[in-house]
Amino acid sequence: MRATFLYGAGDVRVETIADPAVQQPTDAIVRVVRACVCGTDLHPYRSAPASAHGRQMGHEFLGTVERTGTDVAGVRAGDLVVASFSYQDNTCEFCRAGVQTACVHPQSGFFGGAQAELVRVPLADGTLVKLPVDADSELLPSLLTLADVYGTGYHAAKRANVGAGDTVAVIGDGAVGLLAVLSARQLGAERIILMGRHRARTDLGREYGATDVVAERGEEGIAEVRDRTGGGALKVLEAVGHRPAYDQAVGIVRPGGVISRVGVPQYEEAPIGFASLFARNITLNGGPAPVRAYIDRLLPAVLDGTVNPGKVFDRTVSLDEVPDAYRGMDDRAVLKALIAF
Ligand SMILES: [Zn+2]
Repeated sequence: MRATFLYGAGDVRVETIADPAVQQPTDAIVRVVRACVCGTDLHPYRSAPASAHGRQMGHEFLGTVERTGTDVAGVRAGDLVVASFSYQDNTCEFCRAGVQTACVHPQSGFFGGAQAELVRVPLADGTLVKLPVDADSELLPSLLTLADVYGTGYHAAKRANVGAGDTVAVIGDGAVGLLAVLSARQLGAERIILMGRHRARTDLGREYGATDVVAERGEEGIAEVRDRTGGGALKVLEAVGHRPAYDQAVGIVRPGGVISRVGVPQYEEAPIGFASLFARNITLNGGPAPVRAYIDRLLPAVLDGTVNPGKVFDRTVSLDEVPDAYRGMDDRAVLKALIAF
């Protein structure tokens, strides 16, 4: 099969490797129909040291089940399925508590090879969700967002406990930030301030429910949000992951409020002390989204067309064009690239 590898910063190659096989009775093999490139993939794309051994890329996909191990009961060959970006048993103590990304099963983990023709899915029953549409459905892009970005944006809003009438600020106009806007709106937020500078993206953010767009960053951006909200937003959703975004969140959160982070932090140290969080009773929340827990909840509105999270895809490429997709996203010419097989 053909699969995507990263050999170092800026060095993406599509190569032919052996097809994956069922290794455990709980595995399934899925033939990928749609996959995509994630903002998270850009972190190693920008910083990974050059290596003789490529690392397989991709963690968002939907496809058709080809084969299943003998213990798989929930899906069968021919089913169209979407996977959460983590794989888990969905039965252990932490999974049942809704923290599937902390599953204790020894075979649990995170996908790393979904920009490929075939994917081996460990713990298939706890990971795959059958989709009630055909493999040529126009809903595929929106359904694919359930694998990560939509569930991650929703997680940001859930972790901030967004509810009716809230004022919410979203930092980041990437796919996750835009779907955090959509999610905040779905959860009843009244005012949603999107912090982003890219006009086409913030326009989509307005379509998803943003009432305000703040293009300024840093101190200027902080002052603007504090001014517009009379002292800060009670719920701040941080969907970037870089340190300046964290500092921005601390700057715009209202006393007694919540910062909910879903951008994977690219830093280990940041202020959490008296002046930054403690004195103003700020809650710091967030983490890797238990997307598997949200698929069932988010699926109905995608199926009936109430929401269209698939609009975050603004370019479609073939598998062989994936290196161009990384380049385009890195240049910010592309918001999110869909890979069609
Ligand atoms: Zn588990």
